[in-house]
Amino acid sequence: MQQFSLAANIIRRHKRWFIALSSLPLFGMVAAFGTAPDTLTTDLVQEVTVDSLELPAPMATDSGNFDFWREERIRSGDTLQSILRRMDVSDEEIQKVLASDPGAHGLGKLAARRTLLGRVTAQGRLLSLRYLASDTELISVERIQEQFRITQKAIALEPQVIMRSGTIRHSLFGATDGANVPDSIASEMAEVFSGEIDFHRDLRKDDRFSVVYEAFFHEGRLVKTGQLLAAEFINNGTILRALHFVDSQGNSGYFTPEGKSLKRAFLKSPLPFTRITSGFSNARYHPVLKEWRAHRGIDYGAPTGTPVRAVADATVTFAGWQRGYGNLVVLNHQKPYSTAYGHLSRFAKGIKRGSRVRQGDLIGYVGKTGLATGPHLHYEFRVNNVQKNPLAMKLPSAFPLDNRLKSQFAAKSAPHLNKLDLLRHHNVAGLD
Ligand SMILES: [Zn+2]
Repeated sequence: MQQFSLAANIIRRHKRWFIALSSLPLFGMVAAFGTAPDTLTTDLVQEVTVDSLELPAPMATDSGNFDFWREERIRSGDTLQSILRRMDVSDEEIQKVLASDPGAHGLGKLAARRTLLGRVTAQGRLLSLRYLASDTELISVERIQEQFRITQKAIALEPQVIMRSGTIRHSLFGATDGANVPDSIASEMAEVFSGEIDFHRDLRKDDRFSVVYEAFFHEGRLVKTGQLLAAEFINNGTILRALHFVDSQGNSGYFTPEGKSLKRAFLKSPLPFTRITSGFSNARYHPVLKEWRAHRGIDYGAPTGTPVRAVADATVTFAGWQRGYGNLVVLNHQKPYSTAYGHLSRFAKGIKRGSRVRQGDLIGYVGKTGLATGPHLHYEFRVNNVQKNPLAMKLPSAFPLDNRLKSQFAAKSAPHLNKLDLLRHHNVAGLD
């Protein structure tokens, strides 16, 4: 139990979904899998994937381009304008939305911690926007040619379990967009596997993914995504699987099918893998890597201001200027490990000598201070204060579920495991 509660902090931030999850009947899709997997025919697989047709077909998008779903969590002080800007909606479009009098329709007051779901083209055109003002009230903004129509109505949410899979051709987000996987689910998948894969470096063409997640609909339209329930990632031939599990106390986390936590003592990368840092349509976001041997560190090329996070729980032992490093943060982890982050443009709030950070906490922002030709993060992994190549090291890893939880886990995760199997077979069939 003690060990498991450690896992709980991985996804503390998803707590509100756990509540939703435990109170929802997920039978809709599970029922389809009541049959033994080997009796499933290709037809049924088709039927199951067709079930995930719920995302409205892209409407009149700029030809030859694509659009994607963005889901933005509302922060205190946010306005409709600030959120649309975060969704990369163009200023011109924002003006059009504002001209349609969103305040009169309840979009003037946005509740912090709720989310706005938007469909946006790569050119910043807004196609639609959905906001659940409460669990029973939906405000929608739909594009009609060059104008927006806002409607507001009482609804009942229909939960569904969605299955999707895809193959990486150019970038992770390109592939998840292609498979109609919402942004929030794609980022969560990258996060869940971030102890195993450094998506900045390890991603390969023809890598494949499958995701099983919860989503909420109204009249067949997606209004909110929920928890990522299961995921598979095949990276350079290696199969990784993650299953979400909530124990009876409400602690939750992602585990391998064998019941090992996917939380790692160290994240593989100090830069979170997001649409912006993923190399999505712009080469300058790609990591710039030098030969480790000569360099004693790993460089991640990223725009100034990209957030840098602590790879493990730590105490800050240095936050200041140091010769070639420029603005530098040094973190002391469990002995004998420490990490260093150089060339930062600035430090995160509260980061100073002696402060404590948790894995994933923001510590600063990418910059080009010190001896740097362009903006990048210089990252060092040290053992007894000597730089080591973290990619070549066996690092302390997962803690397993205890036996009692293991049987609960096996029972609860079996249906999702079946879905991953099904998606895999479907994928393989699709390659013929
Ligand atoms: Zn460097």
